[in-house]
Amino acid sequence: VKKDGRNDSLIFGPEMRDELNRERDIKRELRRAISENQFSVYYQPKYDFNQQLIGAEALVRWFHPELGMIPPCDFIMIAEQANLIVAIGDVVLNDACSKLQEWQYSDETASLGMSVNFSAKQIRQKDFCEHFVEIIGAYNFDYARLTLEVTETALLEDLDVAIEKLTELKKLGIRVSLDDFGTGYSSLTHLKGLPIDEIKIDRSFVRDIKFDESDLIMVKSILDLGRNFSIDVISEGVEDVEQLNLLTKLGCQYFQGFYFGKPVPYTDFKHFIITEV
Ligand code: C2E
Ligand code: CA
Ligand code: CA
Ligand code: CA
Repeated sequence: VKKDGRNDSLIFGPEMRDELNRERDIKRELRRAISENQFSVYYQPKYDFNQQLIGAEALVRWFHPELGMIPPCDFIMIAEQANLIVAIGDVVLNDACSKLQEWQYSDETASLGMSVNFSAKQIRQKDFCEHFVEIIGAYNFDYARLTLEVTETALLEDLDVAIEKLTELKKLGIRVSLDDFGTGYSSLTHLKGLPIDEIKIDRSFVRDIKFDESDLIMVKSILDLGRNFSIDVISEGVEDVEQLNLLTKLGCQYFQGFYFGKPVPYTDFKHFIITEV
């Protein structure tokens, strides 16, 4: 292991390593991270149009002992390829379930929902449903409070099997959300066959909604779609009050983004749970 005191490393060193070496390094470090519990779960608040807290999205964070925090975009894809995403996903789901269990014992938190991200690779596991049920079964909470977030692209890889599995989980009350909606293609065609409770408007459409006519049209269309199919629509990446007001005017009912709060460790998330006086 190269240690030269600078802020670089064998993983993210400035020297031009080829991609294969970099991936191999990350895979090795990921295996160590799993056995040494280097992952934490951050929580980002979700709000409704009354600015009431409605729940959280669980987002994984990797705290490497030398490199510090490594964002999911730098390791999730590699974790999927190395089949390590299942172990990481288990950490996140367990943490999320423990919060849901805690929440149900207090009036202020009993109605909050929790969203957890799932990769295609996880859903494609043969024992995905059994494994999922085994984990959530260890906790005591209303399963309707738990939402599974999946991307459209993840589902399309093996649509029939995905539908079958998600339908099985939906029988238990679990909600399903289509993440990054609008970034894949043929969204509309597949929507009718999917067991979907929620659509999440990708933040790329929210970002320029004030200036970009085509983004505005896209958002309007997604909101129409939600209304017509009776599917909840949540906007992600809401960063300022103008975006919020515009989205509200268009009929969006649920929001998430830095305007309301960044993903934070659970101890800090508690500050979003406002006690009514
Ligand atoms: P995502 O599921 O679309 O999550 C939303 C991402 O947008 C998060 O990045 C969040 O921090 C960021 N975000 C939220 N609000 C705003 C905002 O107002 N402005 C901007 N610019 N960004 C905002 P994060 O946490 O880095 O996660 C990135 C992606 O990594 C996630 O995208 C998701 O695809 C994946 N991911 C994160 N945690 C997990 C996990 O536990 N399991 C799996 N399979 N994937 C995960
Ligand atoms: Ca998500
Ligand atoms: Ca998203
Ligand atoms: Ca996204």
